[in-house]
Amino acid sequence: MKISIFSNEKKQSQKVAKELKYKLKEQQFIIDEKTPDVVITIGGDGTLLSAFHAYQDQLATVRFIGVHTGHLGFYTDWRDYDIDELVRSLKEETQKSVSYPLLDIEVVYSDGSDSELRLALNEASIKNIHHTMVANVYIKTELFECYRGDGLSVSTPTGSTAYSKSLGGAVLHPRVNAIQLNEIASINNRVYRSLGSPMIIAADEWITFDMKEQEEYRLTIDNYLVENPNIKQLRFCLSDKRIQFASYRHTHFWKRVRDAFI
Ligand code: NAD
Repeated sequence: MKISIFSNEKKQSQKVAKELKYKLKEQQFIIDEKTPDVVITIGGDGTLLSAFHAYQDQLATVRFIGVHTGHLGFYTDWRDYDIDELVRSLKEETQKSVSYPLLDIEVVYSDGSDSELRLALNEASIKNIHHTMVANVYIKTELFECYRGDGLSVSTPTGSTAYSKSLGGAVLHPRVNAIQLNEIASINNRVYRSLGSPMIIAADEWITFDMKEQEEYRLTIDNYLVENPNIKQLRFCLSDKRIQFASYRHTHFWKRVRDAFI
């Protein structure tokens, strides 16, 4: 089995990464950063998000395992003091894995740049850099509302416990194949009106934002900022691709939610 160790810069994570690498080599695992079978992240949810983006072209063949060096995360099942057990589990190679839905984002630019297809594990969110954001929101081909406010966010089921939750969204079990649309401080008065509630969009539906042109936007995808601010249109749907986690130590989803928030 080929393994890549993806660690954040923190001293404790670097220490655990070094120890893990030594123990894996001792058990004849191959360390391969280019085409691994398993990517082990060491850090927190942010580290797992970065690793996901680093290996997003290999999702069909790569499984992820998250080791956390801080507090319990949503994508990190193992503690840094459990690495002996982790190596043992890898050696037994049960090959069990769990997979979670992802979000496809098509970004159309207003400055003539080529459109891009991006993938999110948590969410994509958009804000106007200088003014109130105005966007026409379509569900499938129908105009649903004209939105005004700070911005909008579209999240995956596993992203529902991240930014989406802070925006008042529902927590979705990762087995629910759907995406969630959240408003960020919408303006609702006698002139402007949007729904004001989170919306759960079915797997065969898609959402389009038609942005007001000649404006600059801040589009973030998980922990990354899209550099080109000239955005004309965004289209979101549930991806055909999924992220696979090696479930050597799978935690029950609602237990994880309770432990993290209550
Ligand atoms: P980060 O890596 O410091 O993460 C911020 C916090 O979000 C951390 O506590 C992390 O553990 C938690 N988190 C990440 N993914 C999660 C998930 N799926 N479920 C529960 N908690 C999760 O920050 P960053 O690198 O700038 O961005 C990473 C993520 O942070 C974004 O994808 C977004 O979801 C989240 N975020 C949240 C808020 C907010 O809640 N107000 C604002 C910005 C970004």
